[in-house]
Amino acid sequence: MSLTEQMLASLPGSPLAGLKQADDLWLRYRTGNLPAAQVIHQTEAPLEAVEWDVVICGGTLGVLVGVGLAQRGWRVALLERGQLQGRQQEWNISRRELTALTDLGLLTAAELEEVIASEYNPARIQFGDGEPLWVNDVLNVGVDPRGLLERLKDKFLAAGGKLFERTAFEAAWVHANGVLVKAMGKPSPEEPEPSQSFTTRLLVDAMGHFSPLVRQARGTAKPDALCLVVGTCAEGFAKNETGDLIVSFTPLRHQCQYFWEAFPARDGRTTYLFTYMDADPRRLSLGELFEEYWQLLPEYQQVSLEELQVKRALFGFFPCYRHSPLQYPWGRTLAVGDSSGSQSPLSFGGFGAIIRHLERLVRGIDEALASDCLGPTALGALQPYQPNLSVTWLFQRSMSVGVDQPLAEQHINRMLTAMFAAMAQLGEPTLKPFLQDVVQFPALAKTLAMASIKSPGVVAKVIPQVGIGSLGTWLKHYSSLAGYSALDPLARALDPLIELLPPVQRYYSHRWQDSLFYGSGKDYDI
Ligand SMILES: Cc1cc2nc3c(=O)[nH]c(=O)nc-3n(C[C@H](O)[C@H](O)[C@H](O)COP(=O)(O)OP(=O)(O)OC[C@H]3O[C@@H](n4cnc5c(N)ncnc54)[C@H](O)[C@@H]3O)c2cc1C
Repeated sequence: MSLTEQMLASLPGSPLAGLKQADDLWLRYRTGNLPAAQVIHQTEAPLEAVEWDVVICGGTLGVLVGVGLAQRGWRVALLERGQLQGRQQEWNISRRELTALTDLGLLTAAELEEVIASEYNPARIQFGDGEPLWVNDVLNVGVDPRGLLERLKDKFLAAGGKLFERTAFEAAWVHANGVLVKAMGKPSPEEPEPSQSFTTRLLVDAMGHFSPLVRQARGTAKPDALCLVVGTCAEGFAKNETGDLIVSFTPLRHQCQYFWEAFPARDGRTTYLFTYMDADPRRLSLGELFEEYWQLLPEYQQVSLEELQVKRALFGFFPCYRHSPLQYPWGRTLAVGDSSGSQSPLSFGGFGAIIRHLERLVRGIDEALASDCLGPTALGALQPYQPNLSVTWLFQRSMSVGVDQPLAEQHINRMLTAMFAAMAQLGEPTLKPFLQDVVQFPALAKTLAMASIKSPGVVAKVIPQVGIGSLGTWLKHYSSLAGYSALDPLARALDPLIELLPPVQRYYSHRWQDSLFYGSGKDYDI
């Protein structure tokens, strides 16, 4: 019996079966065995009538966009395959990011406090035998997904939105004037599954990384990178009110650098082991990574496995594609949340990512509907190229190692120690945005300069590690980041002129302004 079987067998909800299911899917990704999807069809003929302005498929993060649009008066239907309820495990985020929910009128300040389940300070960053670095107020707030979704569901219904639970998206036909969506209803296990149709001006895909639309758009191409994560929420640890944002204490193992995260949660302590890799067939399975977790956890948290009462098993894998965010080619279709690939390849914080972009998305979709800008180019402008995301690809590469690549076993720890020491020396304005997945040009330029001066040997070794090709691509994104940062104030100065434009031109101008603003990480400053 494996350690994972011993530790998880008695938990409710069959996590072992879920782990096997996730591992089967991960194997398909590694071996290039993903079934092709053909769920979107295009046809020129117009629909006779269009009932909805927006149909959102997938409720977990989809409801956030749903409330925003319903509150603006659009006819919104939300289709959720299961029940609209969040998972038990908290989402970690920084408090300053959560103000988006109150600013947009999705929650009152009191409701926001009610959904905050835990909060801790400070958090540690440490690599190998490098000095620990402590930060406050970064990803230190645990939001209760159940409580949040319950409140958002009420707001959605109160604003006139219609919720269709146990209704699974099956396929859609994009017509000239709307989309016909076919879904399967599952009212109860005993009843047959009646097929349902919805007609809508816009179909929003919020069905996550494994959405059938994503599979059709991405084809059977392997992801360019992945993040694998396993962990638990458990009781039995010594009292510890501090957390770890990112810590590594082992050399390379199985051609992976393991990173750890730990923090107090509402009902125990959450610990994660995560690692970055490519989709080589020889890579570790989630089950194997879980075995590593159990073997290393006692050393990491100074606890024996016998002392632990595991509450929940947590695991997943996150496929990332260089060609992101994803723009659908069909028109009248838009990806939001994990399906859009709009978070950095370093992060598994998809909740945080949508919160950062929620105001932009809701305002943009509202404007797209109002000006009837619903073609592929117009909607593509809502998920634009963002150089501040693309530059993080090199960091992903430098925090991972190829299956056959020779690399000193402490290289990644040393490189990260040097980089974070440089950021710490430059102060919080440099360090904090980076830790929250926002890269800004001045901070990045100063960090690279500082690290190169202080630890030239370590930085130089990154070049052969990532390869000249990756470095060249990165330089293009880095230059774009500089360009976007310089252009953003100019674009914003054009506001009075842009407001005089006709609706369609104004729509595109606003998207251009947003792409510069968000693409240069300036959203962090507001
Ligand atoms: C272990 C782990 C820890 C995490 N920790 C954090 C964290 O601390 N902070 C953070 O910000 N993020 C975190 N995340 C990421 C976060 O959970 C995801 O980013 C978020 O759940 C993505 O939401 P989504 O709605 O885009 O996709 P999903 O969560 O995949 O949800 C998709 C939704 O679509 C529905 N659906 C699927 N298929 C259909 C269909 N055919 N028809 C209708 N509905 C359908 C599903 O039922 C589901 O409700 C973590 C993830 C994991 C796995």
